[in-house]
Amino acid sequence: MHLLDNTKMFWGGLIAANILMYLCTIIISYTWSKVYNHTTLKLTKHDVFNSFIIVTANILVAIPGYFLFKNGNIQFTTTDNFFLDFALLFFAFDLVMYLLHLVSHFIWPFKKFHDTHHSHEYFNAISLYVMAPAESILFGLLLTACALFIQLNVYSFLVFIVLNWALGVIGHLNTNNIKQPLLFGNHVFHKTHHQHANSNFGFYTVIWDRVFGTYHKIK
Ligand SMILES: [Zn+2]
Ligand SMILES: [Zn+2]
Repeated sequence: MHLLDNTKMFWGGLIAANILMYLCTIIISYTWSKVYNHTTLKLTKHDVFNSFIIVTANILVAIPGYFLFKNGNIQFTTTDNFFLDFALLFFAFDLVMYLLHLVSHFIWPFKKFHDTHHSHEYFNAISLYVMAPAESILFGLLLTACALFIQLNVYSFLVFIVLNWALGVIGHLNTNNIKQPLLFGNHVFHKTHHQHANSNFGFYTVIWDRVFGTYHKIK
């Protein structure tokens, strides 16, 4: 992978992509709330500062992965198993993040980290980026470990990262709807989690909430 081999291209691309995703998050969330006339949570200086820290953490967490790649410990394929590797990442992370999220609600110190994200019961344009740095670092390191132990298709890996971000943006769009989704997580599903923290722990799908009985039931 030419892009990954070239140090300046790699870090330049990574920084640009993170800034672009951050700006797109603001534009999408702001436009969504304006178009649908949703009341948004007041943006605080603390939120803005927190979001800058998270963007920085999302970039810096790639350092161990970059050196593991340079040293040949992490290797990607470019042609094989695109769909298989993508499905593996999607469903494996769906389960792992469900379990980690559950742990983050009940076990110290994960609970302490996760409380920051739950300071928002409904959303402003950067709610996705309001979290403890430990949480974004943990996700980055899990991704790195995945690439270390499994030789993944690089395009599956990149598409998964972008999809993870996109689903994060969707999950933090304001809504007054309460109709829960049948299979894939969305803004209704995740906003319900922010308001009823004992349900809807899933991220990409609602499968594990249904399996473990934490799927939100409208009373
Ligand atoms: Zn939570
Ligand atoms: Zn959230």
